[in-house]
Amino acid sequence: MVPTVVQKYGGSSVADAQKIKRVAQRIAATRAKGKSVCVVVSAMGDTTDELLARAREISESPSRRELDMLLTCGERASMALLCMAISELGYEAISFTGSQCGIMTNDRHSGARIVEVRPFRVQDELERGRVVVVAGFQGVSYKREITTLGRGGSDTTAVALAAALGAQYCEICSDVDGVYSADPRVVTGAELRSAIDYDQMAELAAHGARVLHSEAVEFARRSQVALWARPTTGDGAGTRIDSTGDPSVSLAGVSGAKSLVELSASGSTASRRLLDAVSAAGLRALSFQTAVGMTRMMLSLDDVPDWHSLRDALPDDIGVRDGLGAVSVVGASVGGDPAAIAKLLAAAEAGDIEILSTTSSPLRVTMICKVGDVDALSRIAHGAALASV
Ligand code: ADP
Ligand code: ASP
Ligand code: MG
Repeated sequence: MVPTVVQKYGGSSVADAQKIKRVAQRIAATRAKGKSVCVVVSAMGDTTDELLARAREISESPSRRELDMLLTCGERASMALLCMAISELGYEAISFTGSQCGIMTNDRHSGARIVEVRPFRVQDELERGRVVVVAGFQGVSYKREITTLGRGGSDTTAVALAAALGAQYCEICSDVDGVYSADPRVVTGAELRSAIDYDQMAELAAHGARVLHSEAVEFARRSQVALWARPTTGDGAGTRIDSTGDPSVSLAGVSGAKSLVELSASGSTASRRLLDAVSAAGLRALSFQTAVGMTRMMLSLDDVPDWHSLRDALPDDIGVRDGLGAVSVVGASVGGDPAAIAKLLAAAEAGDIEILSTTSSPLRVTMICKVGDVDALSRIAHGAALASV
């Protein structure tokens, strides 16, 4: 049987016609090696941000359903253009939207979860020898509504399809050489990882490392798909995400998250009131802490395009603090090592960064700070964490 591979190309890899043609050549080279190729593609360059900005010119809190209709156009344009470029190279290619290739999701708009993949049309076309190009980041709910998977969600489309197709491997191709120990655009001296395990990659991704969408890592873990983060150009091997990682490396990395907000409530019924308010608004919490008479919750606004109206609708006794960010250090047992945490906090203090709160889990320490401090704190935490391993 011909092995199938799934390749995902991000927005910067298909930002203009020249780049689309180069991606088509990379796909053709894989096809020429006798593989069956299913491609997942993101919107060109900054298209998704531009479409969001257009929506905001009309409404501060646009309808999530209409926003999903708008944003999915970005990936649709890329898939059609990429198919044209592949055809120019003499290979047959066909594009499908998420809905056409059976990406079934729950009924949440902006941040839907994939519940099932029914890739029959993809399989039929691959068997005919065609390259199949799928629009990433989108699916269809059981109510037949078009949904989007959250910012960065094309990675999840790719891994979910790879699992459903029983692919030999799945490559997430982007403008970086793989997963580094921190965002290489922010931290000079960040190190390229050759391998990283699912748990640590999931922690990094869930706490702001954009290089992989966190649900993509969850899909890979569950299905054991061989997953690689690789550069679109050049022949770098990239980073393998698997169950063992690189046992010789104890610091996986540092990630920074922006656009966080803290909600709080006080009094004896604080937890319940806060939880009720957040679930009524359909928001997801990043962390939840309760102490004597006081409850706090951190939320990420990344996939909350209608925050403006949700915030207005919160009960008056819920406190809102926005403009927050977080820097997380992820590594084997870092969260359970008081000396390591003390060093991080001392380095932040020496760098004159105010840490508003700290939380930890076995593989992670997270420091909450003002959003303007995230990049500086990432550099400080990376330096301190590397020095102590
Ligand atoms: P794509 O459009 O290809 O999906 P993204 O912008 O979503 O690409 O993700 C790649 C970007 O992720 C890189 O350009 C880099 O700035 C950022 N990034 C953040 N953390 C990391 C990390 N630990 N390793 C590599 N890149 C990272
Ligand atoms: N185009 C979408 C975004 O910008 C999805 C993706 O790139 O994965 O978030
Ligand atoms: Mg991405």
